[in-house]
Parts: sequence; C-alpha cells; structure tokens
Amino acid sequence: YTGKETNDVIALKVNNILVRDVQSLPILITADTSIYDAIVKMFLEDVGTLYVIDDEQSLTGVISRKDLLKGTMSFKDTENTPVSAVMTRSPNIAMCYPDDLLLYVAKQIIDRQIDSLPVVVEKNGRIEVTGRITKTNITKVFVNLME
Ligand code: ADP
Repeated sequence: YTGKETNDVIALKVNNILVRDVQSLPILITADTSIYDAIVKMFLEDVGTLYVIDDEQSLTGVISRKDLLKGTMSFKDTENTPVSAVMTRSPNIAMCYPDDLLLYVAKQIIDRQIDSLPVVVEKNGRIEVTGRITKTNITKVFVNLME
C-alpha cells in the first residue's frame, strides 16, 4: 500500500465503527446518593464517571471525578450531601445513541473536553442509559486498527 491507500483503508474502517460496537456498561446512581457513597462507588466500579438517573430510570445528571473533588472541598459533611449538589444536569449533558458513528463521539469528547458520553435510548420521553463511551474505548479501537 502507498501512504494514501493506507489512509483510505483506515478511514473506511473508522467510518464503519458504531457506538454499539464498542460501548461499555454504564454505572448508575440516583440523585440522592451522597457524595461519599458516590466516591466509594467510583472506586469499587473502577470508573471515572457515574450517571445519575431519576425514579423513572431517566438520565438527569453526570458526576465526574472532579465534580466529587469539588464536592469534598465545598461540603464538610459528604456523607449527608447528595450528588445533586455537584452534578452536571440535563439539558447540559452530551449524549450519544447506539447507532452513532464512534468518530462523532470522539469529536464531541475533544470539543467539550470531557472523558465520556452516556449512550442513551429514548423511550416515551425517558432517556434510558444503556452504555458509555470513554476515551479508553476509543484508544482501544485506535490500537486495534493498527494491529
Ligand atoms: P473530570 O472532571 O474527572 O476530569 P470530565 O472531564 O469528564 O472528568 O468532566 C469535566 C466536567 O464535565 C464535569 O463537571 C462533568 O460533570 C462534566 N461532564 C462529563 N461528562 C459530560 C457529558 N457527557 N456531558 C456534559 N458534561 C459532562
């Protein structure tokens, strides 16, 4: 292959990878979960982002590591302060769908300077979180393409 042909082959492959092909499982909590418990959950589940859902299992917030750091700086009693005090709320949440191109998600992660996007399915007004795409998912795809 020439350099250009190799690039074309890679572009062709990248333009066929969908969110559903590489998504991971989401870790979900409710808005009344304490900052303390959210930190414990983040360690136990070994993730960098938790998604917050309401009573109808619909997405209402995002909690990152820095949100929780901010929470511990701002509130003394983290065992009695809910994550709703520090989470990023809808409608400010960037989301993606199972049939989206992974490349589109990668662009959003760069443009919005975030680590992950929830994968959602919309059902009668509810936003059900079915997965997540992280920088790690995208890095794995990059490595696979080169091997
Ligand atoms: P960290 O804060 O641990 O570096 P991020 O860069 O992902 O992790 O998060 C930065 C900020 O962006 C946080 O306030 C977080 O709540 C928010 N955030 C993370 N993911 C999303 C998303 N998909 N949509 C909107 N905001 C998000």
